[in-house]
Amino acid sequence: MMNKPTIGWIGLGNMGNPMAKNLLKAGFELTVFNRTKNKEKELTDAGAGSAQSPQELLEHCDIIVTMLSDDNAVKDVFESANGLLSKPAPGKLFIDMSTVAPATSIYLAELCKKNKMNFLEAPVSGSVKPAQDGTLIILAGGAAADYEKAKPVFDILGKLSLFLGGAGVGSSAKLAINYLLGLNVEGLAETVLFAVRHGVSKQDILTIVNESACGNGVTKLKSASILNDDYPAAFALKHLVKDLNLAKDAGLQSPLMPGLNETFNNAKKDGLGDEDVMAVIKYLKKQTI
Ligand code: NAP
Repeated sequence: MMNKPTIGWIGLGNMGNPMAKNLLKAGFELTVFNRTKNKEKELTDAGAGSAQSPQELLEHCDIIVTMLSDDNAVKDVFESANGLLSKPAPGKLFIDMSTVAPATSIYLAELCKKNKMNFLEAPVSGSVKPAQDGTLIILAGGAAADYEKAKPVFDILGKLSLFLGGAGVGSSAKLAINYLLGLNVEGLAETVLFAVRHGVSKQDILTIVNESACGNGVTKLKSASILNDDYPAAFALKHLVKDLNLAKDAGLQSPLMPGLNETFNNAKKDGLGDEDVMAVIKYLKKQTI
């Protein structure tokens, strides 16, 4: 307990909330900041401190974790007037666990280095359930020494953490796995729609998929939503659109990418951005498959 670093946590959304709770449960001293203050209540009720700004949070903590929507949110929290870089704080370690462009991680790593602070990117694979269970897969990029400092935190949040290389490499790995997630989700949606249109029941096609070699974690996890035709966000569709766009910007030019990217972008335009990724099936249902 004595040797545990003090942790600051910024971003208490679908992922940040359960992750921060796990650190608190594991006995870390935790201070939180969320832009929308009422989302802090669950954590402060459970014993966390609260800061009025990222700058104030920095004063109380050795390690500061950000778990925010996208590149702009992360840059905002680092670079705004009362942001993480607004005052010198040499030796502090920042860990950004949001999914952002590899270029953003490289940019922030350089900026932190100039300010004598340390930056590690650590995006995660796994959604809300693994975040609650502490079984995420953590994809770290930065300096090896910082990874070692972050390891006790990663051991609570994940079942596996991997040090993959310099800043940007972790983000690239995250974009790669989310490309495969997109392919799985769209593949499952198209398979179900095709089968149902030809007289197979939803339940039967899902049983066939899940009992076959094609059944996997994604198909099993998303089956209940498809059966109930109800898609509360575990991983919001708008975030996958962001990740596919980031992968495209990072040079992913595969044969399947254009169709995948177009489908999810159109589904978002259709108003499905705040629903789960699996809600893409509602958009695809309107196309003829
Ligand atoms: P979320 O529920 O949308 O939460 C986003 C968080 O970012 C909220 O705390 C929000 O604050 C904050 N935020 C947004 N813009 C901000 C700004 N300009 N300044 C300060 N705070 C800002 O997202 P999530 O699902 O937790 O995902 C977080 C990150 O993890 C994303 O990069 C996502 O791609 C990635 N990820 C998500 C999943 C998943 O299954 N959900 C899985 C793996 C990775 P407010 O409360 O004020 O809006």
